[in-house]
Formats: sequence, structure tokens, C-alpha cells
Amino acid sequence: MHTPLCGHAEGAPFEYAEHAIKMGLEEIGFSDHAPFVVRELPGITMKHEELPDYYRMIEEVRAKYQNQLRIKIAIEADFVPGYEDKTKALLDDYPYDYVIGSVHYIKNWGFDNPDERNKWDDQSINAVYCDYYELLRQSAESGLYDIIAHPDLVKKFGHRATEDILEEIEKTANTFKQCGVAIEINTSGLRKPVKEMYPALSNLKIYAKAGVPLTFGSDSHQPTDVGCDFDKALALAKEAGYTEYVLFKNRKIERTIKL
Ligand code: ZN
Ligand code: FE
Repeated sequence: MHTPLCGHAEGAPFEYAEHAIKMGLEEIGFSDHAPFVVRELPGITMKHEELPDYYRMIEEVRAKYQNQLRIKIAIEADFVPGYEDKTKALLDDYPYDYVIGSVHYIKNWGFDNPDERNKWDDQSINAVYCDYYELLRQSAESGLYDIIAHPDLVKKFGHRATEDILEEIEKTANTFKQCGVAIEINTSGLRKPVKEMYPALSNLKIYAKAGVPLTFGSDSHQPTDVGCDFDKALALAKEAGYTEYVLFKNRKIERTIKL
């Protein structure tokens, strides 16, 4: 879940907490977009100097709701090859419950950014898919992350690989298992042009078979997103063959819960 600090989410953290209670959730986690390590990205991630405000803001809302809702303090950080040390330094500054790793960039191209959508026109979709999964594997191998975000985000605008990429997914799932990272079912894909969860059922089955731990995320950018479509996400998890999911605390799996 995000906060206004990233520049493209709305609503105060307490409003997200209120909506979570209304939806009957027992636990939520904030994971706003960490400062980008290459350059400033106004409107996309918080600034480096805003990180202390972010942490304090979530600590405050956690304290406020301590008798009604468990609130985890997390962060979503982009994976950029060559910037692993800088990213590690940034993530070591605060004690998070979990760190979500995400791939939103292929080289310098924000492939899921609506402002850069037309760049898809001069790419080979199959090549983009291969580059994307290669980066996902590298993000897991970096050891920087606990959970890999929206693991088929590359489909966001509806571009589909024409070649069979099953092998890519299998390779990725095995890498995730070896590296000990979890994935998420992220319901926000349903609110995007692709109108599909991240990841799709066919991919999720492969992650389940490989034994990659599962978490649930709404990727909320406004309070009413919190817990949205979690009924569908649960059904998807079961259909894929998952029998349990995990919660994180202090960057470790805290609890495994039966589905
Ligand atoms: Zn965002
Ligand atoms: Fe993301």
C-alpha cells in the first residue's frame, strides 16, 4: 500500500487503516515507493529526504491502531542492475518488516509507465518479456528483497508474448525458490488495462508447484483499494494449488497460514 509521498497515491495512511478495518482485515502493510537510486523520479517515488517522514508516519498510524489492526512497515524498492550497493544502503537505513522488490524499468525504459507506453511500439514484445523475466530473476538473486512484486507486470497494457514463455516462468519460479523470496498475488492488475491479477493463474500454478511462498497485496493507491478483490485473490491462490500463505515481520516469515 502506498502513501501520498510517492506523488501518485492519495489518502492519509489512517484512511487506509480505516478501510482495512471496514473490510475485515486483521493485518495490513505499507510499502510505498522507495527513493529511486539512479535519479529523482518526481511523481513516481518519494525523495530520499522524505524517507524519515515516511517511516515516522507509518509508525504513528501503527501506534494509533495497535488495538484494532496489525500494521507492518515495509517498502517497495526498484531493482536496478549495477545499483545493488546503493539500494542495500538505502534499505539498511530503517528496520522494515519486509521489502518488496519490483521491476518497473528495462534499461532506462519505464515499461509500465503510461507516459512511456508508446515505446512499446518499437519493441519486440517477446524480447521485452525475456528481458523482464531476466531482471526478475536478478532481483531475487540480489538478496535485497523478501517479496517480488507483481511478477508479470510486463503485461500491464495487454501486450502478450507470441512465443511460449512457459520456460521463462519455470526458470524464474525455480530461481525464486532457491533464493528464498516470496511472491504476491497483486489485485491491482484488475484495475489496469490488462484487467487481470498479477500473476495470471497459469504462472501462479508454476510458482505453487515450485514451492515459492505466497503473500497477498492490493497495491493500494487510494483507501478504497485496500482489500479490494481479495476474495478473488484467495480463490485464485487455491485454484493454483496453494494451500497456505505467509506473513512477514522483521524481514522474516513470521507465520504461515492455511488457506
Ligand atoms: Zn505506485
Ligand atoms: Fe510496483
